[in-house]
Amino acid sequence: MHGGPVLDLWHMSTRPAPSRITPLIEPRSLSYRSADWQQAMRDAITDVDTLFAELELPPEHKPAARRAAALFDLRVPRSYVARMRRGDIADPLLRQILPLDAEHADPPGFVDDAVGDQASAAGDGLLHKYYGRALLVTTGACAVHCRYCFRRHFDYSAQHAGGSHAEAALRRIAADPSIREVLLSGGDPLSLSNARLESLGDRLDAIEHVERLRLHTRTPAVMPERVDEAFLAWLARRRARVVVVVHVNHANELSDDVTAALRAMAASGATLLNQAVLLAGVNDSADALADLSLALFDAGVMPYYLHLLDRVRGTSHFEVSESRATTLMQEVAARLPGYLVPKLAREGAGDDAKSVLGVPARARHAVRG
Ligand SMILES: *Cc1c(COP(=O)(O)O)cnc(C)c1O
Ligand code: SF4
Repeated sequence: MHGGPVLDLWHMSTRPAPSRITPLIEPRSLSYRSADWQQAMRDAITDVDTLFAELELPPEHKPAARRAAALFDLRVPRSYVARMRRGDIADPLLRQILPLDAEHADPPGFVDDAVGDQASAAGDGLLHKYYGRALLVTTGACAVHCRYCFRRHFDYSAQHAGGSHAEAALRRIAADPSIREVLLSGGDPLSLSNARLESLGDRLDAIEHVERLRLHTRTPAVMPERVDEAFLAWLARRRARVVVVVHVNHANELSDDVTAALRAMAASGATLLNQAVLLAGVNDSADALADLSLALFDAGVMPYYLHLLDRVRGTSHFEVSESRATTLMQEVAARLPGYLVPKLAREGAGDDAKSVLGVPARARHAVRG
């Protein structure tokens, strides 16, 4: 009765740790100081001439870039530019920040407030559209200006939760026990100083019913210097569980320093998810989408949503049709494990959740023999 093999859980759990553990955090990501990212913010490229010179782009595209930059300012951190191919006007990272004449197009259906944000804002920067979750527009600033941005027309000055607005937003959160999760968004919450994040995090941690704190940020992908020691310490200190939704659209964005920054955030206790936007000319191929999921997984990030473009005026050239999106996702699903296939989603004004589009599997090809 005692002779059979037993599963010795005690010894399995007390086995000595292997003598060499691969460090999860590469030292470089931990060596950034606040001064580095504030400098990187100031060094961002904001004029067409500098961008074209840095990347040796064909000058015939300059006048159009200047015209469209008048609609929405050009802004791109240098470390993001460093990941673009020189001389390639079609580079998938460049496409996301390069102003184009197509932005002047004004087809019907593309409007200023495509997701109903202004309609649902009470004026204090808190958007409470979905049950249990409320979104705080913490700032209007971003490290980068993405041309497809759904907030390129958003009236930040009236609606962000900065200064005096913050108190009203925090009071509303404290008064509503149904709010279990607060999303810090913007703009980009990582444009805030560490001191401002500190006070916001402490105030939210003091509200007992806020169980989860979620950051929606594109900054680690475009300016990994922002993930400095103080921010990592901030992540580690939170009472609430922290979810960071990073916005990575293309595998080329995941350079070694970005990957190291993401891993350091995970090691500080944050759950990392990715939300991408399906963009024509950037990631609208099964190869690009599959590569993105695989590269995210390598960096410790799980794919969450792939959003269809919000129909915002000036962004119609980025649109991928719903039927093409579904076909692309079928191809991705046929290649990758289910957990690396993001949910294809669309946001509608007035809905009670984001709509997830069904992606029916294709019939398997008959195998010969
Ligand atoms: C997208 C969004 C959320 C979060 O939705 P999830 O489906 O939970 O990711 C919450 N509030 C607002 C206003 C949003 O736009
Ligand atoms: S980082 Fe996000 S909010 Fe900022 S410009 Fe890009 S898409 Fe818009």
